Amino acid sequence: MSAEQFRLHASHMIEHELAHMAFARKVGLAEYRRGSGALPLWVLEGVAEWAAGGVLSFTPGSEEIKALFEDGCMPPARMESAMRVTNGAKDPKANQQAYVQAYFMAKSLLSLRPEPARGLEQFVGFARDALRAGGSVEAALAGRYGLTPEQFDRRWRSLLETDVVRASRPVLSSFAASHSRPAVRGR
Ligand SMILES: [Zn+2]
Repeated sequence: MSAEQFRLHASHMIEHELAHMAFARKVGLAEYRRGSGALPLWVLEGVAEWAAGGVLSFTPGSEEIKALFEDGCMPPARMESAMRVTNGAKDPKANQQAYVQAYFMAKSLLSLRPEPARGLEQFVGFARDALRAGGSVEAALAGRYGLTPEQFDRRWRSLLETDVVRASRPVLSSFAASHSRPAVRGR
């Protein structure tokens, strides 16, 4: 890793961690503490990657990102377990693929509004609904986005297909050049 790559990687990690904190604050700290363990990891990790600017600094190059999906997407349960690691992933490739996939799952919802700040607001509402007592991701998808689980599945898979698998140059950043980043960090 070059010094420049290291710098990018380190600043991405900091942005990612700050985004977790900001997201928890936006959702509501009490609700977050009570329920975030019940949320699928793709919701939390996906939005943190999105707010950190994308998965660009994740791997050395875009070809490596394409290669992660050579054998298709990961089944949800495998993705969750590949992300649930502490002190270094046993299977770094699976861990990386899981994070990239989580990013595209979240991005497929976050990008439904042209303005990133509005997209984030809607996503916060979605997470809050899913966290609510008696709530679920399925119900929150229907309530906030009018999507069935099958429609959501098709949506993120086609985004990943377009932006990574079939793209000559994968689209790995969250925000179009015409949009500035939303103030994800809050204060
Ligand atoms: Zn994280």
